[in-house]
Amino acid sequence: MSALLSENPLLQPSTLPPFALIAAEHIEPALDSQLAANRQRVDQLLLDEAIDAGSFLASMEQWEDELAQLWSPVGHLQGVSNSDALRLAYDACLPKLTAYATEMGQNTGLYQAYKRIKAGADFAHLSEARRRSVDNALRDFTLSGIALDPDQQLRFAAIAQRLAQLATQFANNVLDASMGWSKHISDVNELAGVPAAAVQGYAAAAAEKGLVGYNISLDIPAYLPVMQYGDSRELRQEMYLAYNTRASDKGASAGKWDNSAVMVELLTLRHELAALLGYDNYAQYSLATKMADTPAQVEGFLMDLAEQSQSVARSDFEELTQFALGLGQQSLAAWDIPYYSEKLRLQKYALSQEELRPYFPADKVIAGMFEVVNRLYGIDISSAEAQSWHPDVRFYQLRSDGQPIAQFYLDLYAREHKRGGAWMDDCRVRRSLPGGAVQLPVAYLTCNFTAPSKDAASLLTHNEVTTLFHEFGHGLHHMLTQIDCPGVSGINGVPWDAVELPSQFLENWCWEKAVIPLISGHYQSGEPLPEELLDKMLAAKNFQAGMQMVRQLELGLFDFRLHRDFDPTAPVPIAEVLAQVRSEVAVFAVPPENSFQHGFSHIFAGGYAAGYYSYKWAEVLSADAFSRFEEEGIFNASTGASFQTQILQRGGAQEPMELFINFRGREPRVEALLRHSGISSGSS
Ligand SMILES: [Zn+2]
Repeated sequence: MSALLSENPLLQPSTLPPFALIAAEHIEPALDSQLAANRQRVDQLLLDEAIDAGSFLASMEQWEDELAQLWSPVGHLQGVSNSDALRLAYDACLPKLTAYATEMGQNTGLYQAYKRIKAGADFAHLSEARRRSVDNALRDFTLSGIALDPDQQLRFAAIAQRLAQLATQFANNVLDASMGWSKHISDVNELAGVPAAAVQGYAAAAAEKGLVGYNISLDIPAYLPVMQYGDSRELRQEMYLAYNTRASDKGASAGKWDNSAVMVELLTLRHELAALLGYDNYAQYSLATKMADTPAQVEGFLMDLAEQSQSVARSDFEELTQFALGLGQQSLAAWDIPYYSEKLRLQKYALSQEELRPYFPADKVIAGMFEVVNRLYGIDISSAEAQSWHPDVRFYQLRSDGQPIAQFYLDLYAREHKRGGAWMDDCRVRRSLPGGAVQLPVAYLTCNFTAPSKDAASLLTHNEVTTLFHEFGHGLHHMLTQIDCPGVSGINGVPWDAVELPSQFLENWCWEKAVIPLISGHYQSGEPLPEELLDKMLAAKNFQAGMQMVRQLELGLFDFRLHRDFDPTAPVPIAEVLAQVRSEVAVFAVPPENSFQHGFSHIFAGGYAAGYYSYKWAEVLSADAFSRFEEEGIFNASTGASFQTQILQRGGAQEPMELFINFRGREPRVEALLRHSGISSGSS
């Protein structure tokens, strides 16, 4: 075995992952070997009572980074180059990694060692970043229940395990309920109004099932075209009710995949877990790792935005109602809203995303984006060579004053065996190495744009351009960091409600008139996006922004109050909490059958419990940060340098509020977001 391990590419030190050499059979033996080595090293380390804080932390960082470097290409390949063999290896490794993490989180010796460091004389001499990473580690031990007595620890572990099961069950119920419903249609006339591409998709779905005609599922790409464009009101109503009663006690499959009891048990156990750790409720527990300080602050934040947005949301809805009445519709039901909204959008702006596509060839957009970053931060970006997992993957190097500072992979196109969506991930973290050298950060940027054909380059919609800027914003946060301590370097250790700041921030540039000529050029003629199309694009940006804002606030308030106010001795029905929030912020009524909460996976099956507000929270920060550029010039290099040094370079090494104030000179304000959304005209 050892002869094989010595040749295992995942166990060899390397600056970049050896993608050309990695095979599925390397994965599990490499992980087993690394975990065993780390366990043994930690045990040894804890025996050394004379070790100083700096050496202790450096050792822990080294071993955790070895594990991260081994696992990074495996997790990445699982997402972008999946295969049966890889999936098997990955699935075999995941429980081992989880067990290792739990073991380390509950290792009393390790906890005592961190406590000694915090209390010791050396602590004051550690770097700010290292001190912060020690504080984070102690916080995470506490949140793992390490300070509890043995009985409570057992209860804590049982709750954690049951919560994971319930979350999976919730997601499975939603998935099964979605798959358990479909609509078969024989007469194409019932699909009048639906775009041809969607109708073709329904026909293909029917054929796959051996049926003649059309088959519509509740998957979003199948569901939305009917809701937005289907002229048949009966069909829209039927599909709306099917979608909005999924996994509930209402609708066509009432009770079959019902999440009602799952949700109550989740709330009850979350409350108990928070109480074990000394919190009054789960909202407080959630905020322990976030930028927001108190439940009252979050509630106030959401209600303030609601108050400021409501009149615009109401007039959005009034405009829509009048428009529909003008077309002969008697009253607007929930299933009419997307349909008339699309008709109104077309009438007001006469613009489709497809019209913009020829002006945004991927290569032009990327070159323009690099130019923007160069003007803002003085960073040069050029192509470089590296092994990768697919011939389409590009690789780039970032330089500052001629010196390399980071590298990244760019995987642009959708293809088979690649997960959908767009994301940025960490390949190598910046950190100081033994001997004083620095390991430079490396990022993966993954998108799913249309690949070039033999006739045309890869052409992006403006939505896709925005996505690219968003992910590159995350990438810059990871790559421009100057923090050398891996726990708080780049995006590491940045609270959940602040991590979207740099990404949403960079999006602003692709809406600027001065930037459009840099990132656009017709793929045949080379001419930049015409003024007329640009004006339409800018005008359409904030269509129904008021209604969208209050919808997001409704979800944020519902999630937050649900977790803040839950009382196991007298639980208020979940539907009642939602109805109360709606009565305060929503601008139109939903039918009594609506059971949206039974499919709200973000908070019942994802990581957003008492954290859904984070979307708006980070948007306020990014809009307000950008407003300084509006005041001082969007290409003002000294403002750019300030954002770079005060925020992008600082990672998770300081409280995000301190970083924000250092950059903006004051606490964040909501005015910029309201103005950018067209909700207030703003005079500042
Ligand atoms: Zn993001």
